[in-house]
Amino acid sequence: MARVLINKNRCKGCYLCIAVCPEKILLPSQELNERGIHPCDTSDAEACIGCLNCTRMCPDAALIIIDPPRAKADAKEPAANHDNPQPPADNG
Ligand code: SF4
Ligand code: SF4
Repeated sequence: MARVLINKNRCKGCYLCIAVCPEKILLPSQELNERGIHPCDTSDAEACIGCLNCTRMCPDAALIIIDPPRAKADAKEPAANHDNPQPPADNG
């Protein structure tokens, strides 16, 4: 199950993440962080579905998603074949 973690002292309060969360679990905190702004907070960290919209949007890398479900389904890239010989040129 995915879970969102927020490094509140990295957050600059742009709230771009709030706009893109499909679960609407991100919101401005009532409290101030070390930078003196209201950072992003979550109403329910475990309701996160791991879509990664917020992490892609955050300019300050203040969000971390624990155990996003699709991470396990990533297809392996096929290994590059460096031994692929070119056919000889046939110019007649
Ligand atoms: S996008 Fe990043 S910096 Fe902006 S409010 Fe969200 S966590 Fe904070
Ligand atoms: S990963 Fe998706 S569901 Fe989870 S907090 Fe970020 S935007 Fe919301």
